[in-house]
Parts: sequence; C-alpha cells; structure tokens
Amino acid sequence: MKNLKINLDKMIGLRGVSLAIVGSLLIGGLSGCAKKADCSVEGNHAHLYTSDEGYSTYYNKEYLTYDGYERQEEYIPLTEEEVDLYKFLDKKDLISLSDNLEVILAQQEQNQDYVEYRYSYKKRVTRMGGKVPVRRTVTRYSWTSDPNHSDLTGETRVCHYVYQACNVYKDEHGKYVVIPSEYVDDINDLVGEYTYVRKIYYKVINLENNLEVDYEDGQEESYDAVKQSNVADTVEYENGPKLVKTY
Ligand SMILES: [Zn+2]
Repeated sequence: MKNLKINLDKMIGLRGVSLAIVGSLLIGGLSGCAKKADCSVEGNHAHLYTSDEGYSTYYNKEYLTYDGYERQEEYIPLTEEEVDLYKFLDKKDLISLSDNLEVILAQQEQNQDYVEYRYSYKKRVTRMGGKVPVRRTVTRYSWTSDPNHSDLTGETRVCHYVYQACNVYKDEHGKYVVIPSEYVDDINDLVGEYTYVRKIYYKVINLENNLEVDYEDGQEESYDAVKQSNVADTVEYENGPKLVKTY
C-alpha cells in the first residue's frame, strides 16, 4: 500500500511536469506561428485591427492577427508616451468605446432579459469513509432556460444584462490605472464620460439580487455558489495615488 502511494505521487508529479512541458510547447508553438507583416512605416505607430464581430482597436504591433483581431494597413502615428498607453490598453484588454459604439449598441440590442428555471438533479459522489470509498447519491441544483426541463423546483430568476466602461488615468507616479464605471443598464449612459470598454464589457445578473449569474446551465454549482464579483478595481484607488491625467 505504501509503495502504491509513492508511485501514485510520482505519477501525479510526472504528469504535472509533462503537462507543463506540453503547455509551454503549445504556447511556444502558437507565438512561433504568429506571422508578422512587412511594414515600411517609419517611427512609432499603431495599426488598426478589426475583429470578425466588427470590433476595432489599435495595436502597436505588426502581427497579421492578434488576439482574434486582424491587422489592417491603416495606422496612427504614436508618441513615446502613447506607445506605453497602447501597451497598457492591450494588457488590460481595453478598446475604444466611441470607435466601437455601433457594434456595442447592436450587441446591447440583442442582449434581452431572459428567464431561467431552477431544477434539481441527482449526482453520484464518492467519499472516503476511513479506508473504504463510500458512494452515495446527492441532490444538486442548477438553472436552465428550458421551461420544460425535468425536475423543475418552481423557482425562477430573471437574467439581465448590465454594462461597464472604463477610463484610464495616469497617477502621480506616472503609472496608468483603470477606473471602471458602475454597471449600467444602457451603455449610452456612459458615452462621453468614459473612453474605453473591456473586450468583455457586459455581464448577466440575477435581477432579484443584482448578483452576477456566474455559471451556466448544467454545471455542478449550488444555488449558494453565486458570488459577487464587482468593483475590485475601484476600491483599490479610493485612498490611493492621485490621478493627474486622463487618457
Ligand atoms: Zn506598421
């Protein structure tokens, strides 16, 4: 029994190593495949990149495709300072709100509230009772948008889309920081006041408690597993560095 345990540990250890190697090979392989364009533009500049969904942004890069966006010949010249800004926007997955407003509004139009129904299902679990594995069946709950799903509990929730935009500031130490907006029902409320959105700029909340719907149909989360994931970025700077300049 002791030997078996050691072997298992060894196997798990080896498996961990091999997964790490496979992982790094994959990453290496992917970046190796990223083709670069021949560019004759001199000086710092950012190319327009566009996605199939119609989003656009500027990257200080020459990759033919980058993060699902395709490079266009069109470019804007950048100052040294703007090179840093565009790197920061890239790192934080921020794109221009005004440049993308049309496609964002089209997405918002599609994001209609919907109802979900709670249901129960049985799941077999195994726990160690001393040295003996004990199997038993437990009841779990999830949500579905199918009103004819089996084992509905009768509870419903309204799922509702909310939107967030961001501003980027430079603080007194010359460091860029992101200040996100509150979540709103209509992105139009943020236009003019906010410059950027994250590439994922909306989330679905349960209208009853305003908590994020953080799992989809069929996953093994219990109803209590709903957690709040909001405002992390704002809290940090409440008493933090002074913000001196907006971008
Ligand atoms: Zn170029």
